[in-house]
Amino acid sequence: MAKTRSKRLFERIQKGTQAGDAKRNAIIPLYDDTSFFMLSNEVARIASEHPSTGLTIMVDSQTAGKVDALDAARAVCDNVFVFGEAPTAWLSAENLTSVAALDAMTDMDRFLVAISSDMDVAIFGRGFDEDGEPEDKHRFEGGWTCRASHVRSIAELLLEAGGLNSTVDFAEPAPATVERTSACSTQLMALLAQRLSAQQHDVAMDKQDLFSVLDILKAISAKRRAHDILFVFVERIARIVDTARCSVVRVWGGEDKGHVLASHEDARVHDLIIELAKYPEIRRSLQTREKVVINDVWHDPLTRDFAGQLKAAKIGSLLVVPIVLFDQNVGSLVLRAARRERRFTAREVGFCEIVAEAAANALERAHLFESIQKANERLEYLAITDGLTGLYNHRHFHERLEEEFERARRYRVPLSCLMLDIDDFKQVNDTYGHLQGDNVLREMAARILRTVRKSDTVARYGGEEFVIIMPQTGAHGAAAEAERLRHVLGSAPYEGMPEEVRVTVSVGVAVLEQDAMRDCEAIIRVADGALYRAKHKGKNRIVVAGPEGDVP
Ligand code: GH3
Ligand code: MG
Ligand code: MG
Repeated sequence: MAKTRSKRLFERIQKGTQAGDAKRNAIIPLYDDTSFFMLSNEVARIASEHPSTGLTIMVDSQTAGKVDALDAARAVCDNVFVFGEAPTAWLSAENLTSVAALDAMTDMDRFLVAISSDMDVAIFGRGFDEDGEPEDKHRFEGGWTCRASHVRSIAELLLEAGGLNSTVDFAEPAPATVERTSACSTQLMALLAQRLSAQQHDVAMDKQDLFSVLDILKAISAKRRAHDILFVFVERIARIVDTARCSVVRVWGGEDKGHVLASHEDARVHDLIIELAKYPEIRRSLQTREKVVINDVWHDPLTRDFAGQLKAAKIGSLLVVPIVLFDQNVGSLVLRAARRERRFTAREVGFCEIVAEAAANALERAHLFESIQKANERLEYLAITDGLTGLYNHRHFHERLEEEFERARRYRVPLSCLMLDIDDFKQVNDTYGHLQGDNVLREMAARILRTVRKSDTVARYGGEEFVIIMPQTGAHGAAAEAERLRHVLGSAPYEGMPEEVRVTVSVGVAVLEQDAMRDCEAIIRVADGALYRAKHKGKNRIVVAGPEGDVP
């Protein structure tokens, strides 16, 4: 019911003003009630500031209550007609005529008509939230006009609907004042159009910024690594906001240093340490948790102490926007602009704030994800590594040996295994202490790693025993490598030990026998046996076990 009635008034206004070609386009459309109220306020302001003879205002009660400037305009009116309940402050006014809410009108109808010798304006429209579809909640259809004939016909229509048609004589613009009238109308129109286009421009800009924010969020969500996310974030912002440098700086609680996690001009920057003392703008933003905008860094009290450095770096303006998540500062977005005349506009600052807020979650999640990943990698590393030497541990050695054993058998390629045991290591401990013994173990591990090939796997097999898997290596190559190792380990002194003292090793070498060895334990057993024989033969030597006994 309400909808059809609402439509009736609205359509009659539309019809009354659009009949005939000459009148077409005289109504400038409005698409939101914000514009409606903005224009109404402007009209009321102009009317009250330039009182002219015979001012009549017609307004619906909701608009009368909402448009503040109408109060002053009403005071200079000859006649004011309020359709529906008038604001209480107006009730005692002599120029007030209260018109009962029109039958053809609903709560959603809005109109303001102002007629005088100097101005003619009608603004009207209807909202939809009363009985529109949910997506129509903010829909508004309306228009405005300054054309005298249109304005008068709208006014007459309203009076007629309210049963008051014969009671009012509108001020006719006298021929002498026609010029003045049209001048005022033009001025008003220009003002309104200017406001409107500024607003439409803002809306367009907002829309563009929104797309940019979405674009950035989309780009960072396509990345997995925290640094990639941060880099795309600063790089995209730098593309949109003209800036010499755009970076994300993080400060961990109480530290006097900042960490540049990403900087748009260099993808390699991932944890550059900066002295916070030199960045008062970042410190200020951390303290206040507010953005800091400095458009003249050479004179601003906060940064003028650093004017020399900033000048040298050609930095004229600074912007710091905190990235806050759950009340925690998880970083600062820092922008530095080069040219001195360059200022960060309100729009750019707003854009950075929105994008920092929208991305905070993704940035922090990426960071957490990466720390968890790093922790996992560390745990994994610890699980397969020997704590003292950093070599693989016994467990991991077995896994690798099984893999290499299977591969060598499947492709029928050679595989060798070396087992090393330090000679008389108990004596090293007894003479120089257990800690020195540990140092020797560590240094020996490092020497082994430096000597073997990349493809070899070195593990600490037991207390002072090491084992090496050598893929693609037959008896000859294995023996040569064993001999080289024996030399490298046993011919130079160890740190912390007397120059003349040598620590030697015995080495057992086993080579995969494709058909005789059924499982990988077999090759270890053979290497162990060879080592035992090397010890037995007097230590500091290698023994290569062959299918028909040791290789001489
Ligand atoms: P051999 O030439 O027969 O191998 O004599 P050895 O003294 O090296 O052999 P033995 O098995 O008698 O002693 C091994 C020594 O290695 C005893 C043990 O205290 C020492 N050892 C084992 N693990 C560590 C370790 O992690 N640190 C230190 N400092 N010593 C260790
Ligand atoms: Mg030993
Ligand atoms: Mg031993």
